[in-house]
Amino acid sequence: MSKLNIVLFGPPGAGKGTQSNFLIEKYKLVHLSTGDLLRAEMKAETELGLAAKELMDNGDLVADTIVIGMIRNMMDAYNDAPGFIFDGFPRTEAQAKALDDMLNAKSEPIVAMLSLEVPEEELVKRLLERGKTSGRVDDQDEVTARKRIAVYMRETSPLKDYYKAQGKYKAIDGVGSMAEITERLVKAIG
Ligand code: AMP
Repeated sequence: MSKLNIVLFGPPGAGKGTQSNFLIEKYKLVHLSTGDLLRAEMKAETELGLAAKELMDNGDLVADTIVIGMIRNMMDAYNDAPGFIFDGFPRTEAQAKALDDMLNAKSEPIVAMLSLEVPEEELVKRLLERGKTSGRVDDQDEVTARKRIAVYMRETSPLKDYYKAQGKYKAIDGVGSMAEITERLVKAIG
């Protein structure tokens, strides 16, 4: 059976992590969040984590080679998974191309890119709300929240065209209850 490899796309605060939790449960997928992987490195104070910390705290992107390497390692480690949910990756065209190369080499391409669409003011509200409990430095103030959204608009949102060209892009309304949004995603996966 072919693998269910999905890119869960969207700006910071769109709900990618929350929705990933539902989808991995339902479809038995492996969740690959580069943000989570980087935060684990930070917490363990590895060389990689220490190098990424300042960029992450400031809302800047970490180098492509680092996140691509992390994804490659995880895909190798979970080679037998029924599929992956990529969350927060890819974030640049170089990352998207590297991901396609890795998956095409295994004949297990991305089947869909589901893009959670949420207005900016709602994103800022959600990020600051999350900051009260997440402990994340990058969730603490409005300037950093808006900076991350701006980085997304500039570097990451052009990937919609990249996946549109492959016929894989699907826009999903990311405003509503958690259950409503899950239902929209499940319907889009089909
Ligand atoms: P996230 O948890 O997805 O919001 O990511 C938190 C931070 O980790 C981002 O603001 C970046 O600094 C870094 N990061 C996560 N994923 C990537 C990626 N694919 N490319 C570059 N930086 C990333």
